[in-house]
Formats: sequence, structure tokens, C-alpha cells
Amino acid sequence: MASRDHSGRARDDSGPGRYAQDLSRRGSDPTAGKGSDIDLDAISARVSAARTETEARGETFYQGPSGIHLAAFPPKERWDDWAELDSRAWPDRKERRYLLVPTTCFNCESACGLLAYVDRESLRVRKFEGNPEHPGSRGRNCAKGPATLNQVTDPDRILYPMRRTGARGAGGWERISWDEALDALAARIRAAITERRQNEIMVHIGRPGEDGFTERVLASWGVDGHNSHTNVCSSGGRTGYQFWMGADRPSPDHANAKVIYLISAHLEAGHYFNPHAQRIMQARANGAKVIVLDTRLSNTATHADHWLSPVPGSEAAINLAVARHLIETQRYDREFVRRWWNWAEYLQACHPGRPTTFEAFEEILAGLYAEFTFEFAAQESGIDAGVLVEVAEIVAGAGTRFSAHVWRSAAAGNLGGWQVPRTLFLISALLGAVATPGGVFPNGLNKFVPRPIHIPPHPEVWQELTWPLEYPLAQNEMSFLLPHFLAEGRGRLDTYFMRVYNPVWTNPDGLSWMEVLTDEAKIGCTVALTPTWNESAYFADYILPMGHGSERHDTHSYEQYDGQWVGFRQPVLRAARERLGEEITDTRQVNPGEVWEENEFWIELSWRVDPDGSLGIRRYHESRARPGEKLTVDEYYGWMFENSVPGLPDRAAAEGLTPLQWMRRYGAFEITSGQGAMYEQQVPDAELDDVAVTATGRVYTSAPGPLSMNVVPMGAPEPDADGRRAVGVDVDRTVRRGFPTPSGRLEFYSSTLAAWGWPEHALPGYIRSHVHPANLAADQVVLLSTFRLPTQIHTRSANAKWLDELAHTNPVWVHPADAARLGIARTGELLRVETDIGYFVAKAWITEGIRPGVVACSHHMGRWRLDGQPRGAGGMMATVGLRRGDAGWTMRRRGAVAPYESADPDSRRIWWSDTGVHQNLTFPVHPDPISGMHCWHQAVRVRPADPGDQHGDIAVDTTRSREIYRAWLRLTRPAGPESPGAMRRPRWLMRPLKPAPGSYRIPDPARTP
Ligand code: SF4
Repeated sequence: MASRDHSGRARDDSGPGRYAQDLSRRGSDPTAGKGSDIDLDAISARVSAARTETEARGETFYQGPSGIHLAAFPPKERWDDWAELDSRAWPDRKERRYLLVPTTCFNCESACGLLAYVDRESLRVRKFEGNPEHPGSRGRNCAKGPATLNQVTDPDRILYPMRRTGARGAGGWERISWDEALDALAARIRAAITERRQNEIMVHIGRPGEDGFTERVLASWGVDGHNSHTNVCSSGGRTGYQFWMGADRPSPDHANAKVIYLISAHLEAGHYFNPHAQRIMQARANGAKVIVLDTRLSNTATHADHWLSPVPGSEAAINLAVARHLIETQRYDREFVRRWWNWAEYLQACHPGRPTTFEAFEEILAGLYAEFTFEFAAQESGIDAGVLVEVAEIVAGAGTRFSAHVWRSAAAGNLGGWQVPRTLFLISALLGAVATPGGVFPNGLNKFVPRPIHIPPHPEVWQELTWPLEYPLAQNEMSFLLPHFLAEGRGRLDTYFMRVYNPVWTNPDGLSWMEVLTDEAKIGCTVALTPTWNESAYFADYILPMGHGSERHDTHSYEQYDGQWVGFRQPVLRAARERLGEEITDTRQVNPGEVWEENEFWIELSWRVDPDGSLGIRRYHESRARPGEKLTVDEYYGWMFENSVPGLPDRAAAEGLTPLQWMRRYGAFEITSGQGAMYEQQVPDAELDDVAVTATGRVYTSAPGPLSMNVVPMGAPEPDADGRRAVGVDVDRTVRRGFPTPSGRLEFYSSTLAAWGWPEHALPGYIRSHVHPANLAADQVVLLSTFRLPTQIHTRSANAKWLDELAHTNPVWVHPADAARLGIARTGELLRVETDIGYFVAKAWITEGIRPGVVACSHHMGRWRLDGQPRGAGGMMATVGLRRGDAGWTMRRRGAVAPYESADPDSRRIWWSDTGVHQNLTFPVHPDPISGMHCWHQAVRVRPADPGDQHGDIAVDTTRSREIYRAWLRLTRPAGPESPGAMRRPRWLMRPLKPAPGSYRIPDPARTP
């Protein structure tokens, strides 16, 4: 489409890629610019013309894996020398030439591909755009991807290692060398290990952003010190899936679905946000129906064909009403249920008097969910029964092309939230929509974690601060209870690392965190591995600056469609300079200041912990090619790509590259696509030796299994009493692979839940939430606090100025009917929101986008620093004063965000001052007694603020928060000597870092000295 630019010259509106291709080919200077109209016919015509032209030259026309024509992306053949006009030089036409280097975004868990545009002249990154070679993100990004540039150039970032001076948290810092920091930490860790105080070392991880490196380091130290953020994030979602299929994550094939059923805001911020969002929209374009359950009118809800705004916590009741409808109308996949559900085990355990026949099971199934009528679900959810019928009919028509997903949202908000995914997967399992095109896959089929060069043994210790007896079935570490456990004297930490993690701000009950972080008797040394200051780093003893997504190495793979891929995050300047012939041996040589990357840091630290190799640690960080020398990241990833990623060596060789060179050049490799129903695979005879088969068809063998290159964490069924390994399951006299569950089948009935104290929840069911209307006082409403904003992500994105300008505050959503009832006259008015342990003061946003009786507030905002601490994130962090009195803590703003002088002139242009409120500080802990998930929803009282209240005020009574912790602790059913095998936890359940089998046994007090 031709148009005119401001000077009246004709321009080509086909997009910057097309323009640049022309420029590169002709060496001419056509005018750049994007048109405001998209003329698909014209683009299509140009694609055909380009194809004809290319093929006429005898070259192959390359469209790329993104399926988008390269008019949208620079072709990979030209990534060594890509030319564009410099937008800053406008109206002059100044040409700039770039090396395009791939890496991976680190701003959420999706790991989308990025392409860094490295200026060949200055060797600086000018911008980040999408990597069209990345099979998950296919060249697309959300706003947070390109904003990586802001993080790299952030004037407030930390450039050098620092050590605190004065009291912890008082704000005194001195710059130190890496050697000083490494030697001090290595000495502490070595002492803890040699004095058998291994449990005093802990690495607490926020966003992992990688697969397995940190776990490997801790295992090499013999330390059970992995702690994660997962129980404040996704444990509720994972638990329901894990009990069904032995895989803790679903992989919905949205792109091929006929019906998409979402319980989360997937199109704006959900799990695998951009990769899933683009596939949901692709399906919609092909006619798929989208059903969204979200109490709030999210962006996702606005794209739904059916938006249901349920009473929070009632989602499982809706799922069960849909399931009941499928059962009652006999529109379930009978053959799938017969072959793949563990109904026989259920009958034997719960109906021993009945014959173990499928017909007997169907008779029982027909009545199992009788109470979950549409009327009951309507009563619980507040959704009209007629609407539920309509939705159930659409679901029934989906057949095996039913993709469904819940991750955080209701699963993370409610007591018993883990039953939301369990009941949601019940629908998938009834429809037989498991690992079918358009269905839901277990993540293990769509994720690939390559085997690393060295695999240390499982640690011989058990960390009770993260895996306490009270929570034997917790999906992940009970991370958010750490302050309470330390306060109770359950243990002490000598050295505590916080890595991409900000517990004071992210977790509930942050002031209890502050109390223990400032208590050196409880935590001897705190270390923040972080690119930026944050509320917890202010309480560290050492600040160790780590790189952003374009300044570090990681590998990762996520289940985003029916395929397996491996992505490679890399320091782009290192890769660029190596491409230009330089030798780089340490990522600090290319990063700003003395910013490092974790992998080289962990290798170096491990060497200093065990300098002579006498502890047996060093060997896991030694070169194989050069014995006795340090492992390098080049060798680590080079070995992995050469030996553990099927197909990559051949692909690389075809281009005359080593696998590492190939990954440095393209950033991601698709191993396979179209996996299909792997559980149906027949087990080869070679694997069937000395076979034993249980009454319900689980097959065990003495034959060794093939060595899998894919070490994705999944359920690990126990061997039988004779030590044979579980190899498959007998389905109609054929041994098939099945699922990694104890029974080998999909577990409609969980013998694990039954045996570990929860028989009443062994089937998919409905647990009334702690915020169920029956549990609310007359003057209370529910606060939804779990939703994300599309352009911010927890702590990391506050150091991106573009994102801060887009989103910087978090008003409380209030329905007009509630506003009238509560006496809130207008949007912007101050509210007091009272929780069980205190209150926060925020602004009201009166909107019909929220259900009456419910209020909502995004958790991304309210960043703060104490007076006297470094600025941190100038565009987002207000300065606050914090006081402790008889009634607890109070926090008040002393200085709002305002323009400031820095190396970035844009910091003088900050026009906003409202940066929201830190609501999480006012939430007590709510650990679900089964999944261990923190149940985020709060029962609150909302009223107009008091005359003296100010926006952002916080008050918290941590004594009260301890009482609430104890009340929730009383809901648990702890493991004990009477637990199966006298173990702390079922061994088949996942743990990010599994200790050795002997560590699972509960010590016998009679035999413990
Ligand atoms: S969805 Fe956005 S923030 Fe997340 S990895 Fe992709 S580009 Fe980055």
C-alpha cells in the first residue's frame, strides 16, 4: 500500500522488514515507515511476488517456522549484517547495520524468543524484537519483551557487588570485589557442609527461568536447600493435574481446539501468556468457541463467547455440573474412560462388594455427581442455570477438541483450589480430550529438559523448613511459612540466597519476613542475586549483581503446543563479539559494570567451597575435556546440545556449525512436533523381562529402561516390592506406556490422597472456599488479589520505563452497587480495605467489570523503599517510613515517585506519582492443608478512608498473623510413623530437588540419638 510521508514523498508501507530487505538488496534508500492500514491482499501479493523473484534467482524461498512471511522479520540468512534506517536520525536517512543475536525473554515464565539488534559500530544493543525462529513464541512478544532494553539501560540497576555496612536494613553499603564476596560465602558454605549443618544453606528462587541448573548445584553440595516461590503461585493448579496424570502441568493444544475453556486471564497475563494467547486467537479465527470463567472482566473475558463471572471459589462446582451433564447425557468417551481411568482400583478400594467391571463402575459413576445439578452450581456460583446449560452443551459438542486450562486464578485463590484443575481435567478425561489434537497434553510430552554433563547424586538430607511433616502432599516447598517456622525455632539458616526473588514484597505477610530477615540469630547471612534493588535486597548482607535476559545463559523448554523445543538464553554481546572473532571467557567481559551471570557464578563458588576436591563437590563443576580445570559455560552447553538434544547435531552439521554455534545463532530448536498420545505407545518386548502385573494392570519389569535424554520432572512411580520398575500398564492384554501415576492410568481415584489422610477428597470434588459466602461476615466482601497486569510482572519489570509509563497503579475495582452501599461516591476516592491482620488504603475504581460483592486489586504495584536506601526503581518505588508500635507495623509514604536526574534523560520526564499500594503486606498466610498453596483470596471489609488516611498507608499486626498461621496449621493431617512406609511424603510425587530415598523415612525417635 503506497502512501505519503510527512514530506510528501511516496513510501512503501509494507513494514520495516520489507523495507530493510529492499535496502539491503539494492543498497538504496527508500523511505521507511509503517502504514496504519493492514492490507492482507496486498501483503499476500507481495509474498507471492517475493517467492517468484527468489525462486527465479534459483534460491529457496524461506518462510520460517513462524509461518509468517519474512516481510515481518529479517531472514535468518542476513542476521550477520542487517541494515535499517536510524529512527533517531530522522528526517536524515542514516543507515545502521546490525548483528542480530537471539536470546530469550526473562520477564515471565513463557521464555519467548527475542532478537537483539546489536549495532555493529558501537556493539551496543539498540532494540529487542521477536525471534521468528522460536517455535513457542513464533516471533511475537508482549510489551515486556522489547522492554528488556529498558532493563539493560536502567540507570538504577546494580553494577557492582556490595556488602552492607552497619545494621542489616539500615541502608549502608560498600562496594567490594567479586573475590571478596565469593571467598566469604564459600567459607560459610564449606563450614556448614563440613560441620553437617547442610540444612542451614538455602537458595530461594523466584522465577527460575531455567531448567535444573540450580538444583544440580545444590545436589552437588549434598544440600536439600532448594526453595521455590511455587506455593505462592501455581501449586494449586499443579496439584489437581498431578493427582490425575502424574504430570503437574497441562499443555492445552489451543490452536487446534473447537472449544477453549479457560479459568484464568490467559490472553493478557496467563500461564504462557503470549505463546498461548496467539494460539487461542488462532483458534478463534478458525471458529473455536471460547468460554471464560473469571470473576473480573479481564481482557480475556472480553474476547470470550461466553464470559461467566462466578462467585469466587465456586468454579469447581461449575466444572462438576458440566461433568455431571456429560455423564447424565452419556456424552462421554466411554471407551477412553474404560481403557484409561483407574476405575478398577476405585471399585476395589471403595466398593469391594461390587464386581470389578466397567459396567458396575458406570452404574456408580451415574450417581456420583448427582448433587451437582445446574441449579446447585447456579446457587453456588451466582451464574444463571440456563447459562450453565448452554455452556455445558457447547462443551459436550467439543469431543476430543476440548482445550482447557487453569493455572493461578481460582486454583491459587481458594482453600481447596486444587480441586478446580482436578474437576476441570475430569471434563477433559470424560471427553477423551487427552493428548489429542485440540485437547490437553501432560506437560512431559511437550517439554524437553536435556540431560546435563554431570548429574550429582540425590542429597542424603531432608530440609524440614521447606518440607515439614504437616504438609506431606504439598506440591512444592512451604516457602511462605519460612518466617513462622524460623520464629518457632524449627531451625536456623546460616546462608540464605534470594535469587530473582523478593519475598518481602511478593509473599503474603511481608512484615513477618522483614522481622526474620533483620534477625541475625535466625538468618546468619542473606545474599541477593539480583539485577536490581528490591524490598528484600535492602535486607541483604551481600548484593551480587546478575544479568538480565540478554546478559546470562540458561536453557528452558515449556509446554506451549504439541511439540518439544529447547530455548537458549545467552548474553547477546558475548555471542555478537564471538561472531566477530573475539574470544570471551567470562560473561563479565561483556556485561555492564561487573554484572555477572549465575551459571559462571555457581561454578566459581562451588570451586571455592571445595578448592582441592576433597568434599567431592568440585568434580561436578570440572571440565570433561580438560580434567582438573573448571567447567566453562561453553563446555556445559556445548556438551548438552551435542549429546542431549536429538536432531540438533545433524541440523547444525548441515550448516557447518557445532550444535552450540547453531544455538548461539538461532536461539531455539524444535525437537519434535505432533507427539500425539504417547501413553498409548506399546512397550517393546525388550523392556518386558521378569514381568509382574498387579490386579489392576500395573506392569513391572526387571529389564533396564532406555536412557532418556529428556529429564523433565514428572511423577515417578515406586518400584514393586521386589524392586522391579513400573514400565507400563496392561490395557486389553497389551502393555502400554500409560501415565507416570502409581496405577499407570489416569487417576480418577487417588489412592495417594486416600492413604495419606484425605480419603474424602480422593475423587474430583468440590471444597468450599475459605471465602465461600457462608464463611463471610455480613459486612465482608471477597478481595481478588491474584491478577496480573499485562505490562508488568512482579519485581523485575519495575525497572523498565516504558512499562512503568503504561501501568503504574492498582486501584481497587468496586461494582457500582457496592460503591453505593459502602458510601463510595466516585472513582479515585480513598478506601480502607481491612484484612484479618491490618489494612491498606487505596483508590477506588468504580466499574461494572467486577461482580457485586467482590472487589479486586492487582498485585503488581505499591513498590517501596525505606528512606535512606538506594533508589531502586525510580519510576515505580515510593519512599516510605515504617514504624513498629504496640499495635504492630505502620507504613506511610514520605515521597512519591517524581522526575529525577540520571544518565537517562527520560527519568526527568516522569509524569506520574501514583504507584499504587502494596496490598500483600496486609495478607496473612493461608496454607492449603493438602496442596500447600497459599490461598490468596481475602475476606475484607471495605469502607471510605478515615480523614487522616493517606494513599498507600499500611497497618499490620504480625502477632495476629501468627495466630492465623496457627489456625491454618491446625487444618493439616501430618505425616507420622503410621503414614505409608513411615515416610514423610509419597516418593512418587515430584520435588524440584529429590533427596535420596533414605531421607524420606521419618526418623524413629527411639533410634535417633
Ligand atoms: S509473554 Fe511477554 S514477558 Fe513473557 S516471555 Fe513472552 S515477551 Fe517476555
